[in-house]
Amino acid sequence: MPTFDFHCRHCGKEFSSFVSLADKDKVTCPQCEAGDVRQVFSGCNIIARRNTKSKTKGNSAGAGKNCKSCMG
Ligand SMILES: [Zn+2]
Repeated sequence: MPTFDFHCRHCGKEFSSFVSLADKDKVTCPQCEAGDVRQVFSGCNIIARRNTKSKTKGNSAGAGKNCKSCMG
């Protein structure tokens, strides 16, 4: 299951969550439990991590191809 990054518009908390595409709209903030969160598209950051050859995330290689916000 992919990891999505979210930003809580209620308290400003940023967090990552393992959710399916169908459940993305149901994500709530782990800090204040508000449902007013938006997804953060961090494709550019993923590429940056790849350049540093970080091995903390094994799936980052494929995720970088999905970066549409910074390559289009
Ligand atoms: Zn919150």
